[in-house]
Amino acid sequence: MARSGISRPSPDGKTTESLVKQGGVFDFFNLPRELRDQIYADCLQFKVKFESQHGVRLRGRRVAQGSLLQINHQFRHEYLERAEKETCLVIVDRDHFHGEALELPTPVKYARKLELHLALACDSPDHVIDRCKVVQEVRMHRKWIGDLADRMKHLNSISIKVLLDNHPFVRDCGKRLLSEQHRFTNLEALTSVEVYHCDFYQGDNGTGAWNFQRSRKLVMQWSPGKSELQRVEGVAAAKEREC
Ligand SMILES: [Zn+2]
Repeated sequence: MARSGISRPSPDGKTTESLVKQGGVFDFFNLPRELRDQIYADCLQFKVKFESQHGVRLRGRRVAQGSLLQINHQFRHEYLERAEKETCLVIVDRDHFHGEALELPTPVKYARKLELHLALACDSPDHVIDRCKVVQEVRMHRKWIGDLADRMKHLNSISIKVLLDNHPFVRDCGKRLLSEQHRFTNLEALTSVEVYHCDFYQGDNGTGAWNFQRSRKLVMQWSPGKSELQRVEGVAAAKEREC
């Protein structure tokens, strides 16, 4: 790295001058590990977009940059060690996915965090007999999430955000979702489940779209301290957006 010319003491008393080898090359690996770790963290890419697969969007958050992995063996090892703590694979399904096998993008294969945004639309007004589409969707999603979790060997965090179409029968869908909740809550690495109401616009020609621009409302929540997914009543609209 280039010499800065500034003599600044580091936490272990070394100065920038003493970290510059003869010949003007900055001795990066002579910096204390905690400083190197800060630099590794600053060098992670905030957001990486991968090619969509079967209608789902795949994103990486806090991902190691491929070019920096080429620097040398020590840099690669320490940089990846830092990345492993922070990289998150984000998968967004806006109700287009049918559970096909997903290929893990190479830059996030080591990720320990998985964040899922699952939009579920149910167009059935008849919830007396079992026609709630949410039930089918939850079962379909559970299968591929389980398969993916098995392939992500070091996974220690799964966060699921479910979006329900806020139609007049949505409370019935909510009841069905509660009856199926174990399919998500029995995931070993699960750290949170949040269920939101979000508007889905149905067009005249049968096409529709989720309205992600409007605020969504948190209606159910699960965390490791709770045994079951619980309804959240009277909570103000959440401002959070998907990645
Ligand atoms: Zn339903």
